[in-house]
Amino acid sequence: DSSCEKFEYQAEVNRLMDLIVHSLYSNKEVFLRELVSNASDALDKLRYLSVTEPDLLRDGVDLDVRIQADKDNGIVTIIDSGIGMTKQELVDSLGTIAHSGTAKFLKALKESQEAGKDSNLIGQFGVGFYSAFLVADKVIVSTKSPKSDKQYVWEGEANSSSYTIREETDPEKLLPRGTRLALFLKNEDKGFAHPEKIQKLVKNYSQFVSFPIYTWQEKGHTKEVEVDEDPTEAKKEGDDGPTAEKQKKTKTVIEKYWDWELTNETQPIWLRNPKEVTTQEYNEFYRKTFNEYLDPLASSHFTTEGEVEFRSILFVPSVKKEELIDSKTKNIRLYVKRVFISDDFDGELFPRYLSFVKGVVDSNDLPLNVSREILQESRIVRIMRKRLVRKAFDMILGISLSENREDYERFWENFGKFIKLGCIEDKENHKRLAPLLRFFSNQSENEVISLDEYVENMKPEQEDIYYVAADSVTSAKNAPFLERLTEKECEVLFLVDPMDEVAIQNLKSYKEKNFVDISKEDLDLGDKDEEKEKEIKQEFSKTCDWIKKRLGDKVARVDISHRLSSSPCVLVSGKFGWSANMERLMRAQTM
Ligand code: ADP
Ligand code: MG
Repeated sequence: DSSCEKFEYQAEVNRLMDLIVHSLYSNKEVFLRELVSNASDALDKLRYLSVTEPDLLRDGVDLDVRIQADKDNGIVTIIDSGIGMTKQELVDSLGTIAHSGTAKFLKALKESQEAGKDSNLIGQFGVGFYSAFLVADKVIVSTKSPKSDKQYVWEGEANSSSYTIREETDPEKLLPRGTRLALFLKNEDKGFAHPEKIQKLVKNYSQFVSFPIYTWQEKGHTKEVEVDEDPTEAKKEGDDGPTAEKQKKTKTVIEKYWDWELTNETQPIWLRNPKEVTTQEYNEFYRKTFNEYLDPLASSHFTTEGEVEFRSILFVPSVKKEELIDSKTKNIRLYVKRVFISDDFDGELFPRYLSFVKGVVDSNDLPLNVSREILQESRIVRIMRKRLVRKAFDMILGISLSENREDYERFWENFGKFIKLGCIEDKENHKRLAPLLRFFSNQSENEVISLDEYVENMKPEQEDIYYVAADSVTSAKNAPFLERLTEKECEVLFLVDPMDEVAIQNLKSYKEKNFVDISKEDLDLGDKDEEKEKEIKQEFSKTCDWIKKRLGDKVARVDISHRLSSSPCVLVSGKFGWSANMERLMRAQTM
């Protein structure tokens, strides 16, 4: 056929394909997870678009996924009745790396190769469509988009830098809509083409897909069939009745046949009663939904009623994946009446500093055709946001109250920066943020403490919360300002992260106790002896003058201090000036 066109892959795809085809990655079965998740995405897209364009569903075909394993020929076929692809979409989607996850994968791979590590990146990132080549040496994708009146066939082979696209001409292969993917398995991977194997993988990997997944299974039902009884047999058994005569008798047999079998559970986990969902199920849902590798640190499943009704499950990951605070982290998946709407938000549902929290939100109160603009304006969304934030804080506080101190230390190590950012960005939630902060101190140099622990440990006469900012615990420890306070056994927080000081300055106080920088000039320890001070001031006034003259403009003033005990002198910042640490920070930023 002359209409078969040949295309070259984008260079990155070649690299990726090469990696996949030659990978020694043993967990090849992830291919099914990737392909089923694409099918599910395609169904989600169709369902979403059909809200405003009901005509898209005119063919009356159900939204589902069907998987068939042909053991004899080593072929696995995955069919979805989703949105399908036009010819151009085929080129854009299955010839380039359009998808950011795969780009991230390549970047991580490069980094890990440079670091000489051989990590399990394929499983961790998921390599999308191309993972088909983990197990197949040929893939044929036949697809029909409702936007096009033609169906197209994409065909690609492992170890080839090109693929072809042609029009589907075989009338038997025409689809009402959607996509059929046929994987021609490599010899050593033909084991995946067993119906039982596929069934097991679907149960394992696609339990939380919200469309029905059917697998083609051999079944049997029992059937009564009439059999001619052997008269000699009958004789042995008993003598009553006519014996010589041939008798009609029934016998139970198992009749085998093939049929589609529903293989996954389609009720979304968030619709279930939280009491009936196990931690293991939450963890699994989390890993599968967010393509995570490790279990979450905490989860929270709740329903809100009243003014606005929605259901949600939120999670705190156990590690931080992305380095930067990404404004579009796709951390929250929004559903309206179980229809997936979007995971592409920019702070509408969750403040950006909480973007590390992942979750699903399902609302009955939003319109199905909700757009970004509606989200931004909606009163319902504002209420939802408020509740989600509160629940997120409760969940994090829960980690901090857990008996296992390590859990919160882990949280703090990974996400402490976000909490500090919250102190800067979200005044409204200072009360919820402050208890989550952690610091080292002169009395706890190896283990961080909370502000509550600090307050509990305050001296009876102490009114303020003391802190000193420095670039490390060691330099904080040696700060001369600390001497008197240490002598008095006062606890002083060490602010050793550049963001600590900014966060604290935004909070201003905690439980009505002000934060006081002990390096500022007017530190009042409440133990001044006015008389004695006057005396000393007079005695040393000439020394001070002399030093000021020597230093000139380098210092603003030279004064007698009562805050030192063993150091002869100390350089402090003015009351209204920046602390030395802030100055360091500002300088670093302007450079
Ligand atoms: P991702 O799913 O993260 O976008 P993939 O590599 O898995 O990346 O898929 C690339 C693209 O190919 C998808 O974004 C989608 O546009 C298209 N695609 C893949 N499978 C299907 C399918 N079954 N139906 C429709 N489009 C599909
Ligand atoms: Mg995908």
